[in-house]
Amino acid sequence: MSQVTETATEVTADIGHVDVLVVGAGISGIGAAYHLLEQQPDKSFVVLDALETFGGTWWTHRYPGVRSDSDLFTFGYRFKPWRGTPIATAQEILSYLGEVIDENDIDRHIRYQHRILEAHWSTDDRLWSIVAIRTDTGEEVRFTAGFVWMCQGYYRHGEGYTPEWPAMVDFGGRIVHPQQWPDDLELAEQKVVVIGSGATAATLIPAIARECGHITMLQRSPTFFVVRPNSNELADTLRDLDIPDEWTHEIVRRKILKDQEAITKMSFESPELLRAFLVDTIRGLLPEGFDVDRHFNPTYRPWQQRLAVLPDGDLFEAIREGQASVVTDQIERFTPTGIQLESGDHLDADVIITATGFDLAVLGDIAFTIDGEPLTLSDTVTYRGIMFTGVPNLAYVFGYFRASWTLRADLIADFVCRLLGHMDECGATMVTPMLRPEDADMALGPWVDPENFNPGYLTRSMHLMPQQGDCEPWQMLHDYTVERDLLAAAALDDGTLELK
Ligand SMILES: Cc1cc2nc3c(=O)[nH]c(=O)nc-3n(C[C@H](O)[C@H](O)[C@H](O)COP(=O)(O)OP(=O)(O)OC[C@H]3O[C@@H](n4cnc5c(N)ncnc54)[C@H](O)[C@@H]3O)c2cc1C
Repeated sequence: MSQVTETATEVTADIGHVDVLVVGAGISGIGAAYHLLEQQPDKSFVVLDALETFGGTWWTHRYPGVRSDSDLFTFGYRFKPWRGTPIATAQEILSYLGEVIDENDIDRHIRYQHRILEAHWSTDDRLWSIVAIRTDTGEEVRFTAGFVWMCQGYYRHGEGYTPEWPAMVDFGGRIVHPQQWPDDLELAEQKVVVIGSGATAATLIPAIARECGHITMLQRSPTFFVVRPNSNELADTLRDLDIPDEWTHEIVRRKILKDQEAITKMSFESPELLRAFLVDTIRGLLPEGFDVDRHFNPTYRPWQQRLAVLPDGDLFEAIREGQASVVTDQIERFTPTGIQLESGDHLDADVIITATGFDLAVLGDIAFTIDGEPLTLSDTVTYRGIMFTGVPNLAYVFGYFRASWTLRADLIADFVCRLLGHMDECGATMVTPMLRPEDADMALGPWVDPENFNPGYLTRSMHLMPQQGDCEPWQMLHDYTVERDLLAAAALDDGTLELK
């Protein structure tokens, strides 16, 4: 086992070889580092991130009001209590992650401003050869790793997704994507149109509504919103009783998970009842005569796309007070002064904000080869939503759609650490998921069933993702309570993992 560079200031020093390379220092990568230190303390590892600091999503996104849309009891790690309000700002999440790094001395394992470009697996050497580039100096960095743990998130950090609309160049004002929020954006007295109605639009609009002349949310189709106070009664009670934070964290997590399970069950079994509940809550928050069904009653089933939480219904307050309005229509083209809609209406705008989502990045845009052959991920089948058939010594983190991402990141970390331990016990240096003869005729389908979940960034890029089978372990499950037990008990010697 070779040593990694010991201090963060020695970032230019040769990394040499590590047992594990963690790609990304977002919430998943920092969690991976924590679990490696806890569960596999003898493994050498390095965490590389292209950005200049930790946090990933929470560092990249700087638009006004940026916050979580899940509660931090479950979006936080299971091992570090959350002490704040359920919905947290990006800054609060960054502080929490900073504490995890400090408390566990993780900093010495992280190299920032290192973008990984290539990863080449050699079966003869049982190694990944990694090529990275330092984004500050342009210097190329090469090293080897026994195992690659992809914590790269799911979208490109450099740029958001903006569709091409006709005549965009004709628009005389400014077009801004929330992922690249400019420091010098002047909004006072401006007519602002936000295209999109997902979590980003719903967060941004109340945060800037007072500042703008007027702000319009332009959506092609409505989104489901859940209105909740930004407090948790159970957490407040337990805190009042001076219950230790660790207990409060665990108890509140269990309660939230139980409640979420009930809502998910309802979304499948009685979707129309759930729809009525969600839409009626909103109806009560909007002025008499507001066309709630047109603007806030989606055609899809609740939970087919992520439910966006609105703490204290702040978006509806902005609408009630006349600072914000909603238009449900299609864009025909941009004009010098705004947007021409298919209905014939024109939306005047000085600033257009395209809250139109992400560009899915498959495996961090890294060029992978396996014994000289380029890896085409869509030719592979997922192994438990953690590994891929035919790809040795590589795990990746993809969180839940309906529950907090980090719940799954923690479970995957346990699985990867157990797998690394198992390899050591068997004297294996290579682990590869392989379809067994009895799996050969298994029906294969898309990685995520669009009937189950179909947000735009996924449906646009599903052809790039691995396939899934019709039975375990060749599926990506979306249920925390099922996976918690299943992954902990998963046999590592059932013939689906080839160990050599
Ligand atoms: C505004 C916003 C709010 C969200 N709110 C929630 C929420 O409330 N709950 C929830 O569950 N999910 C939420 N999400 C989804 C969120 O992205 C994830 O939950 C979580 O933050 C992902 O963490 P991560 O560490 O896996 O990935 P990221 O946060 O995306 O971090 C990945 C890191 O990997 C680095 N990286 C990628 N490729 C390379 C490479 N080739 N070389 C080097 N480094 C690389 C990136 O620079 C980045 O720092 C939200 C997303 C956004 C954009």
